[in-house]
Amino acid sequence: MTFDRRTLLGSCGMLAVSALVGGTAAGAGPGRFEVTLSDAEWRKRLTPAQYAVLRQAATERPGSSPLLNEHRKGTFTCAGCALPLYSSATKFDSGTGWPSFWQPLPNAVRTSTDTKLGYERTEVHCRRCGGHLGHVFDDGPPPTGKRYCMDGVALQFAPAKGGKA
Ligand SMILES: [Zn+2]
Repeated sequence: MTFDRRTLLGSCGMLAVSALVGGTAAGAGPGRFEVTLSDAEWRKRLTPAQYAVLRQAATERPGSSPLLNEHRKGTFTCAGCALPLYSSATKFDSGTGWPSFWQPLPNAVRTSTDTKLGYERTEVHCRRCGGHLGHVFDDGPPPTGKRYCMDGVALQFAPAKGGKA
């Protein structure tokens, strides 16, 4: 399983950075985000699949996201609060079955340390609503070397008007 090995390597490489970033994100607990809804409100606003990922940090089935085949120019936004998160210009095919990007838009996401699988991974969540989006690994392409591995169900796509990214 090459993917598992890559994941492990990627997450190990991120330990120092995630500890650092996690420190700043620690102040942003529940209720500290710009967009805060009650659990009932989130359930009403989101589909069950969106709720499971964004609010319960579930992982979608690889290969299941229609956004894998989204190759138009545009912006990927948060399915929870519509904040623009990624430009199509930074999307790449990672072969993992999850939509992948090498860089988020400025001030779009925050990270924290996730140890759910028994080792540390860097979780990525929306800066504005705190919704879980996926994880970031260190085995991405240039220029950043990062692989933002996103759950497509946590994203929505807005095609660029006039063909500009
Ligand atoms: Zn959001």
